[in-house]
Amino acid sequence: MTSNNQPEVNIGLVGHVDHGKTTLVEALSGEWTDQHSEEMKRGISIRLGYADATFRQCPECDDQSAYTVEKECDEHGVETEHLRTVSFVDAPGHETLMATMLSGAAIMDGAVLVISATEDVPQAQTEEHLMALDIIGIENIVIAQNKIDLVDAERARENYEQIQEFVEGTVAEGAPIVPISAQAGANVDLLIETVEEHIPTPERDPDADPEMLVARSFDINRPGTTWESLLGGVLGGSLAQGRLEPGDEIELRPGREVEEGGQSEWEPVTATIRSLQAGGQSVEEATPGGLLGVGTGLDPSLTKGDGLAGQIAGPPGTLPPVHQQFTMDVQLLDRIVGDEADEVEPISTNEPLMLTVGTATTVGTVTSARDEEAEVALKRPVCAREGAKIAINRRVGTRWRLIGIGTLRE
Ligand code: GDP
Ligand code: MG
Repeated sequence: MTSNNQPEVNIGLVGHVDHGKTTLVEALSGEWTDQHSEEMKRGISIRLGYADATFRQCPECDDQSAYTVEKECDEHGVETEHLRTVSFVDAPGHETLMATMLSGAAIMDGAVLVISATEDVPQAQTEEHLMALDIIGIENIVIAQNKIDLVDAERARENYEQIQEFVEGTVAEGAPIVPISAQAGANVDLLIETVEEHIPTPERDPDADPEMLVARSFDINRPGTTWESLLGGVLGGSLAQGRLEPGDEIELRPGREVEEGGQSEWEPVTATIRSLQAGGQSVEEATPGGLLGVGTGLDPSLTKGDGLAGQIAGPPGTLPPVHQQFTMDVQLLDRIVGDEADEVEPISTNEPLMLTVGTATTVGTVTSARDEEAEVALKRPVCAREGAKIAINRRVGTRWRLIGIGTLRE
């Protein structure tokens, strides 16, 4: 991988809105992930943003300052050495965007939880995102205590202690806490060193059948493009295993909805890979981990506006089954995250739930509920294996709130 800077690991940036996730991605990658014009307007990340960064090390520095994203060491004037290229998945921190955060978490191998030193801990989505990491099973976590430039030493210490107390008993207990200023670039070297140590690249099988989790999909044509010059649909996501090459045929499941004699059903979509983009360049072979763009021969109207987000792609006939309904084992949280008072009531028959399975988010109706299991009928089917983890959300007031975790049963 070192030869072509293909990313090999996905690191999520999670935490409350305005705590500095996007600024930190920018400091590490030189890219601003809020590229969507609507995002610019609203000033928040409404979709998953992503950017790659290559971590490097100066061979002559012998402390944390050895870690950098710069190609040349300021102090020694020598070229720095490539450590690894990582992809950042920048999750939106706004409370109404939990579904996006949850589907992004499906492709995270580890996460940096960004917590602003200027506010009390925890803010609502600090807690909710951490709970989501816990549910999805993301255990390699580094905490960035951000905006340290805005507080005095005493406040910084107080806030640090609040963070320690808050993570006690959670999946982030014992996670390193690195004070930084994303905006001023302070201590970013130490953060890189800590990520290198605590978020290793997972072992993956490059010889298995390829399986890509699709997190985004796009139509990259400008409006008014004539059909002769129209480019095929583009998929964005991450390869969990296997390799892909241009020319490979892939299948997407659940695929698309078709009307068949007044009945609607879902059928897989097949496509040929035309190009692959990883680490900011076009590649002849994509390997697992990191974020990947796949140019296909698909009709761009299918991929437009994340039309295929949440699907799985791989060689025809190898993908997990598609479920229009399923039974899941359920473990409810004790209380609704961020709401000290609100206990989680049992799931009841006929209630609507929002479920995140892999990168897919779907709404389902409970057709049968018992103590520790529920049967749901889905509006949009999902492609998933037995044992898949499911984030369960219930509508409370005007929004969906995380209430528990499910495990897909056959
Ligand atoms: P996000 O919602 O978590 O992605 O937060 P943003 O990265 O959009 O940052 C929110 C605001 O905080 C922006 O105005 C940033 O410029 C500012 N900000 C982010 N990091 C720092 C920091 O380390 N110090 C200071 N002073 N401001 C910061
Ligand atoms: Mg942001």
